[in-house]
Amino acid sequence: MKFLAILLGTILGIIVFLALLALVGYFYLRSKLKSLGITANSLRDLKRESDRIRQQDSTRAKSISGMTSLMLPSIREDFPEFNEQEMYAMTEEGLRKIFSALEAQDSTLVKEYPLVRDSVAKIIEDYKDSGWQEKYDDIHFHKFAIYQYQKKEGIATVTISTSVEYYYQKKNQTKVQEDYTNYKKQARYQVKFIYIYDEKKVGDAKSLAINCPNCGAPITVLGHKYCDYCGTAVKEVNLKAWELSSYQEF
Ligand SMILES: [Zn+2]
Repeated sequence: MKFLAILLGTILGIIVFLALLALVGYFYLRSKLKSLGITANSLRDLKRESDRIRQQDSTRAKSISGMTSLMLPSIREDFPEFNEQEMYAMTEEGLRKIFSALEAQDSTLVKEYPLVRDSVAKIIEDYKDSGWQEKYDDIHFHKFAIYQYQKKEGIATVTISTSVEYYYQKKNQTKVQEDYTNYKKQARYQVKFIYIYDEKKVGDAKSLAINCPNCGAPITVLGHKYCDYCGTAVKEVNLKAWELSSYQEF
């Protein structure tokens, strides 16, 4: 009995001691923060200010650096008919289709772009495996510019930069990874287009290799309308026309 009383007394003593310690610690920390000018109010203000900056940021289109005026003359030398406005429209259309394919998780929505279909299909497969869901809403394109022009080994490449905004969310069942549902995300993309001006000069055509959407067999898209293995129809890469060949956010 006596032993129990001593034990209980000791435990009570320890609890009271810890409580006092916590209280002293709290007041000490508070006075320290106060001396630094930090109060609960100022922390709230800080949070509000950072929210405001984020919001303000979301209404400002990202700037894109272009070389349009420098690049156009050399492109026109090789392609007198070249129309940059048409290219910008193709950039917008291509990205919109890619966003729809990603949102619907359906790579057939980009089947007319044989060179990006594989990479889009791969992202969709990963999303399906891990339960990710993407949503793009109220997409609006701001600006376009020609970023680069190259010509080698039978292939001419034009790179277009664009700034774009949209409501966006990426989530799975347990977590939201990116959330732009209250204000828009401002993004920038670079989209490449290729034009095969001399197919005989195209080397091993690595950049033009795709996989059959049905059986996965490698296909060289130049002049192949059907998969050699399973006979599935494949959208070939047009010769003498600009084809969307890749895209990336930057
Ligand atoms: Zn096949």
